[in-house]
Amino acid sequence: MSAAGAGRHTTARAEQPRVATLLVGGGRPVRVPGAQVNVPVDLNSTYVVGGPVEYGRHGNAVWEAFEDVVGRLEGGRALVFGSGMAAVAAALSLVPIGGRVVAPDRGYNGTCALLARLARDGVLVVDWVDIEDSGSVRRKLPGAALLWTESPVNPTLEVPDVPALVTAARAARGVGDGPLVVADNTFATPLLRTPLDDGVDVVVHSATKGLAGHSDVLLGVAVARDEALLARLEQHRALHGAIAGPAETWLALRGLRTLHLRHERGCANAAELAGRLAGHPAVTRVRYPGFGTILAIEVGSPERADAVCAAVDVWTHATSLGGVESLLERRRRHPEEPLSVPEDLVRLSVGVEDVEDLWADLDTALRRAASGTPG
Ligand SMILES: *Cc1c(COP(=O)(O)O)cnc(C)c1O
Repeated sequence: MSAAGAGRHTTARAEQPRVATLLVGGGRPVRVPGAQVNVPVDLNSTYVVGGPVEYGRHGNAVWEAFEDVVGRLEGGRALVFGSGMAAVAAALSLVPIGGRVVAPDRGYNGTCALLARLARDGVLVVDWVDIEDSGSVRRKLPGAALLWTESPVNPTLEVPDVPALVTAARAARGVGDGPLVVADNTFATPLLRTPLDDGVDVVVHSATKGLAGHSDVLLGVAVARDEALLARLEQHRALHGAIAGPAETWLALRGLRTLHLRHERGCANAAELAGRLAGHPAVTRVRYPGFGTILAIEVGSPERADAVCAAVDVWTHATSLGGVESLLERRRRHPEEPLSVPEDLVRLSVGVEDVEDLWADLDTALRRAASGTPG
């Protein structure tokens, strides 16, 4: 549907606009006198016969605008979905019945839970691997249908060597058709990583997080270059009804306009906090890959971790990540979280507030938790 509607949108003058220019100028209506500057929210289920889209489950002008920007950021064609998990499920639908998936033994808990469910139901087979150990992943690849990667890993912040994994997957392709390589790029965002350029076949995002960036919508996206794969993902979206609401997509596009600015401040804040936390007496380990807006700390015990989360004031004790506001939570409070995630690990999603306020609040909460003083 994006291709059919491509002529309805323009970008800035440059053939290959730089990232900031693309974020701001992509997916805008064609500039004719009186034209709207923003694509309007298109609230229609059906359209008069003869146009590019006839029914709302197959396309929407707001989807096209959002997909235009995200697709060009990632270097492929994007398809928007109703949530990150809808995009994950679409990518997993590429596995033939009974096919084998090589997947990280810890990673986003929704993806792990879906894979485990599909394995229990006999839909596919899962080989759980330590995704940072490229050698052991490589040994599992011959005959596999799909390799799932996530970089950095949620919430342990490990960074798998995606180019090496792609090379290994390609080498294994002599045996059958697979494995396809899928990368969940939610944590890195296309500002830090464009996995399609590393040879990954499908990129998925929870656009709920950094892309939309304001904790006000759930949305997902899948991006690929291969038209046959895109056709299957698009058909999955339409036939499973895994579609995004036009209003949610509009909000996500509005959020996307400032991704680079939010990202710059969030990354600077995260780097500053990571450095200070490394020397904090109440912190036993800081997990920070050296980039991005997410970090994790270990604080000695789950009780202490809960006490830190209860004692904050500037930070919000809530799940999710990638928004303008700083959030924290102890991940193992979720029963479905992989057991290899430490029980005392607190994930920090660093927002765009003043870093001194973030630090003062966190420092106070950590000291209170360590001394047993109620927050
Ligand atoms: C949140 C998240 C998802 C799922 O996205 P939803 O929008 O919540 O459905 C998938 N992958 C990662 C890495 C996430 O953080």
